[in-house]
Amino acid sequence: MLLKKINELPQSLLDFVLAVGRLSDLEKVPVYLVGGFVRDLMLEGKNFDMDFVVEGDAILFATQLARTFSYKILTHRRFGTATLTGREGFKVDFASARRETYAAPAALPNVTFGNINDDLLRRDFTINAMAIRVHAQGVGELIDRAGGKKDLSEGIIRALHDLSFIDDPTRILRAVRFEQRFGFRIEKETHTWIKRSVDDGVLCRVQKHRVRDELVLMFKEKDPLKCFKRLHEICGLSFIAPRFKFQNQWKAYFQAASKRISWFAENFHYKKSHIEPHTMLMGLFFYCLPLGDLKKMMHSFAFHKHETSRIISLKSEFLKVHEELRRKNVKASRIYKLLEPLTYEVILAMTVLSKNHLFFERVKEFLFFYNGQRLHVKGEDLKAAGLTPGPMYKRILNELLSAKIDGEVNTREEELEFLKKMTHQHGCFKTTTVL
Ligand code: ATP
Repeated sequence: MLLKKINELPQSLLDFVLAVGRLSDLEKVPVYLVGGFVRDLMLEGKNFDMDFVVEGDAILFATQLARTFSYKILTHRRFGTATLTGREGFKVDFASARRETYAAPAALPNVTFGNINDDLLRRDFTINAMAIRVHAQGVGELIDRAGGKKDLSEGIIRALHDLSFIDDPTRILRAVRFEQRFGFRIEKETHTWIKRSVDDGVLCRVQKHRVRDELVLMFKEKDPLKCFKRLHEICGLSFIAPRFKFQNQWKAYFQAASKRISWFAENFHYKKSHIEPHTMLMGLFFYCLPLGDLKKMMHSFAFHKHETSRIISLKSEFLKVHEELRRKNVKASRIYKLLEPLTYEVILAMTVLSKNHLFFERVKEFLFFYNGQRLHVKGEDLKAAGLTPGPMYKRILNELLSAKIDGEVNTREEELEFLKKMTHQHGCFKTTTVL
């Protein structure tokens, strides 16, 4: 059955698995496919992120493969792991089988080399604790010490032992994420272990950037709101920020956001890679926090710079931009000036927060007509005109751009004519050259 499923992989991945198997047999180093890849293979889901565990030196093994296949390799000596990137763009991780022990709750584990059984026992849930041995001819039997196959067929998220969430509280978020993604349910005893660890306050003791990574993964799920609803039920949301609660308006926000993202992708096909949907959702999700609390929270979780700046600019700019753009008779250059500094995520999130039809019309006008407008003339034209280089350049060119967006100038000749007037007005020539 597994062999059949492996054989259904895209040819390049299958070739790769077989090459791993050949090298494993040749070197007599047991190698296994593990974790989410095995889970998704059994669920018939699409997951081409392969994780291999090597009972031996994973870096050495991966380096030999990379040479044979001319793949790029990135190694992390400290963790004994290597990532290969194939020409087809897929990524494959190799790690040495390891055993983990936790010296203190929510602390990082002590890691030593181990065998595949040790490696599976350190994992989060039974459904993620299965492995398949890889051979030259294909794959071997499923290794399933914890009963993952049964839980997978019954739709159960089950932790491996009672201290699992004390050892690593981020597993609470992972349990919720997998439960909601697959429409499973958290097993009763596991649920009790989660509750107990939450009551112990583990979520406040764990390193915040690890919680952040799990939160971000939730926003990348197909239906993030389901995850947050369940998270709220299980442990509340105050571990994110004090007094932070589930907001009823999130449902409408997320639905509208998804429509806006599709609309943007349809109309601006070439720009759709410029937007990060999860950042837009995060902006809307955290919008209810006062600006000071929001900044504090983003800082304490050390969210990435680009996420932080977008989320904060939505909060700090929305009311001002909205107030101005929902009025009648706004000049095109003013629309440009207010929206051009913002990213697409922030602009689209603003249209979700706004209930005003005119505001969205303004945003459309900006996106279709003004965004990315460029002048024909450049700084050199000002220089050629004898204008002394300096801050004045920017001011003049900005004024010219506004005039262009407002339709007052169109051609290069008209731009040059405009410059002539402006430079005379500012009276700041270096020489007597006249345009
Ligand atoms: P996804 O489909 O979301 O990528 P995944 O199961 O592949 O799911 P990863 O975060 O890539 O998730 O982790 C790979 C594997 O590593 C998991 O399947 C699990 O076996 C193990 N793992 C990851 N995080 C933890 C953790 N916090 N505690 C224990 N095991 C973990």
